[in-house]
Amino acid sequence: MTPRFALHTDGEDRASARDAWLPVFDPCTGAAWAEVAAADASDAEAAVAAAQRAAPAWAAQKPSERARWLERIADALEADAETFVTLESRDTGKPLALCRDIEIPRAVANLRFFAAAARTFGSESHHGEVGLNIVLRPPLGVVATISPWNLPLYLFTWKLAPALAAGCTVVAKPSEVTPATATAFARLATRVALPKGVLNVVHGEGAVVGEALVRHPAVKAVSFTGSTAVGRRIGALCGEQLKKVSLELGGKNATLAFEDIEPREAVGLVARAAFQNAGQICLCGSRLLVPRSRLDEWRNALRAELPSWTAGPPSDAVARIGPLASAVQATKVRAYLALAAQEGGAVLVQGRVLDSADPAGWWQAPAVVDGVGIGSRCATEEIFGPVLTLHAFEDEAEALAMANATPYGLSATVLTNDLARAHRVAASLDVGLVWINTWMQRDLRVPFGGNRQSGVGREGGWEAMRFFTEPRTVCLAT
Ligand code: NAD
Repeated sequence: MTPRFALHTDGEDRASARDAWLPVFDPCTGAAWAEVAAADASDAEAAVAAAQRAAPAWAAQKPSERARWLERIADALEADAETFVTLESRDTGKPLALCRDIEIPRAVANLRFFAAAARTFGSESHHGEVGLNIVLRPPLGVVATISPWNLPLYLFTWKLAPALAAGCTVVAKPSEVTPATATAFARLATRVALPKGVLNVVHGEGAVVGEALVRHPAVKAVSFTGSTAVGRRIGALCGEQLKKVSLELGGKNATLAFEDIEPREAVGLVARAAFQNAGQICLCGSRLLVPRSRLDEWRNALRAELPSWTAGPPSDAVARIGPLASAVQATKVRAYLALAAQEGGAVLVQGRVLDSADPAGWWQAPAVVDGVGIGSRCATEEIFGPVLTLHAFEDEAEALAMANATPYGLSATVLTNDLARAHRVAASLDVGLVWINTWMQRDLRVPFGGNRQSGVGREGGWEAMRFFTEPRTVCLAT
């Protein structure tokens, strides 16, 4: 029987009100393998109503009690981790190792981290000037979290854990492209007896049910991770209502490798930053900037590295990456590779798609594109696939100008052993996050988010706890 991913509201699985279902495709074969409920505004309404009913009691719980709920869910997720690993890999085509070693453990870590945050979050007081001012931080009430398909459970929990820790009740809208683990997670929360209505999951098309949530007057804030185009739309809708919104959007991140870096030694890190998860991570380093004096050495290092970058199904242990997530995504990535030729570029070297891959799947061999200009569409627009463009700079000033030459400002990676240069460059990069001699190391306490077209606001650590609460200053006469 075809698996079905239902809505989970008020502690129960449900079909949508009109009993509509969308196909869920297996990116390894291009064939539908499951169905997901297609909710509309009436389902959003019901989910918000459930969250509203649950809100007063949840907000009234002590932070330490909410922390215990998050830990209970984390324990259950950890105990059942292999089920979630298999399900995430089935839904996305990702290698099992990526799900087992990084993504599902990170979902557990998100829950445990924000359990600790619930216990330790404080607020400031000010005195000695006028009065005694105490800042209270009550939860907002009902909030909506909207997440994408690229890191399904990882980003779903990244949003709902701080919301629940802060005392909000949640209506979560995962991507309709990858609904499996969010559904299983909601059931798991109900299984450990999380009070009904505290966490509700609605599925379906973003423009239908996602927008209904964003527009709903009882939804006090929207935490969104996804594309810049949709972020702009959600930002506008929230602006009309003066609704609090956090937007974590796209990226076109540079990896800057300076003269003192040996290409052969650094190429592994550069390739991982470009190609992990088939390049479908907002933080992927999709532009490599290298000194002109070392350009040929970089070309040779990339030629030597790329053959080890293989795309194939999770059942093939040799596969380092899975397929692209959808037919839309595959068409888009191929269109950019065709555009690269029109923009004066050429593929320098490619990895390969393994023989075990079903030809009907949405495979893309990782590729390095050489020769496109830094201002070309290929080098400024988010491709969101395993495509790395290569560019040469003359000096540090040009490297910086090139790194900042896109509308995005999410992250950058600086490779150098020159400490002064590393900090000088980091201070001038117009991005929310700079890695020096590393990539994708994430301390959950730090603010996370992007500048310019990469987003508005920050999540992570206290930033997320602040987002899901509203400060109220109480001034006592002294
Ligand atoms: P997307 O914007 O198409 O969809 C994201 C979510 O928004 C989905 O759940 C979708 O159903 C929903 N949605 C779509 N239209 C909507 C609307 N009008 N109203 C409300 N909700 C709507 O993004 P995607 O293709 O799923 O994800 C890829 C994008 O996400 C890339 O651009 C990537 O860079 C970005 N991303 C950013 C971060 C970050 O932290 N900055 C992290 C991961 C992914």
